[in-house]
Amino acid sequence: MSKFWSPLAASLVPYVPGEQPKDKTYVKLNTNENPYPPSPAALKAMEDAVNDDLRLYPDPTCDELVRAAANYCGLSPEQTFVGNGSDEVLAFAFAAFFDPAKPLLFPDITYSFYKVYAKLYGLSPKLIPLDEEFNIPMEQFQGEHGGIIMPNPNAPTAQLIPLSEIRSLLERNPDNVVIIDEAYIDFGGQSAVTLVPQFPNLLVVQTLSKSRSLAGLRVGFAFGSEELIDGLNRIKNSFNSYTMDRVALRGAVASLADEAYFRETTDKVIATRERVARQVKELGFRSTDSKANFLFIEHPAIPASELFAELRERGVLVRYFNSPRIDNYLRVSIGTDEEMNTFVGALREIV
Ligand code: PMP
Repeated sequence: MSKFWSPLAASLVPYVPGEQPKDKTYVKLNTNENPYPPSPAALKAMEDAVNDDLRLYPDPTCDELVRAAANYCGLSPEQTFVGNGSDEVLAFAFAAFFDPAKPLLFPDITYSFYKVYAKLYGLSPKLIPLDEEFNIPMEQFQGEHGGIIMPNPNAPTAQLIPLSEIRSLLERNPDNVVIIDEAYIDFGGQSAVTLVPQFPNLLVVQTLSKSRSLAGLRVGFAFGSEELIDGLNRIKNSFNSYTMDRVALRGAVASLADEAYFRETTDKVIATRERVARQVKELGFRSTDSKANFLFIEHPAIPASELFAELRERGVLVRYFNSPRIDNYLRVSIGTDEEMNTFVGALREIV
């Protein structure tokens, strides 16, 4: 605490991301990064961007990337917004769309940044408990409220909400913005971007951090009605009109254009996930039905805190959540086959 801090700064409890060890000795399965490098075409485009004129400011309206992302989703540039990672896009969306006078609805087990942003923007979260199987009780997202946000698949449970249920959610809540955070959608889900033309209150948020292997570049998107995209631009231009840098803009455009590489690496991650899910079940673990690039697992006889420590000792870093209901679970990002063999080998020694 400092006397120089505003009441807002003093009241915040900032998000603590997963550990990023400075040495590279760990098999790092704790922050849902992609184990494969970014598209070679994206790397080349970024090299070119570095060699071009970094002296100049980037395009404040990010036209080329906005057009590329819009095209990719079959939407118009007016329905498309880009930002520095989906965390930034989400921050702008919280500021732009949620009514502080009414509760903001989100699942009680979900991406923990939502609580932080709610606090930052003076919103009052109303957390909706998940059912026994960690499913989101979608029918409870209705009534008097100031907005809805949920990830699909949910994090850290990895479970997918079918598109039909997202559609019903939108039909039930026409008067408030509904944000679907699709950070992990490419690993087995069906995106809600197809619903954007029908629902003016839907905002779909995506990222290049996971399925495109560009977590370090910080590129995120939002897709929604022109009305919503205008709202995001109002916030962005009141905050930092040059949000994205020249290197990120060029790399992101090239990444979106390299569909073959995207398919190949995503398919590999999915195949590895399915194999490892089978292997951990054989070792006595319970696993949710993951449609993301991570597994959410628990062992009925060994506390997750102990597994976490034992894995760490063997050089494998996973995510452990010391919070109610999920404190016996580990979240394990899907690495290369070799990395996952090390993980499963370590588990065999432990259980
Ligand atoms: N949403 C969810 C559900 C996430 O898990 C993450 C990654 N931690 C993000 C958004 C943010 O991703 P980024 O800012 O890298 O785009």
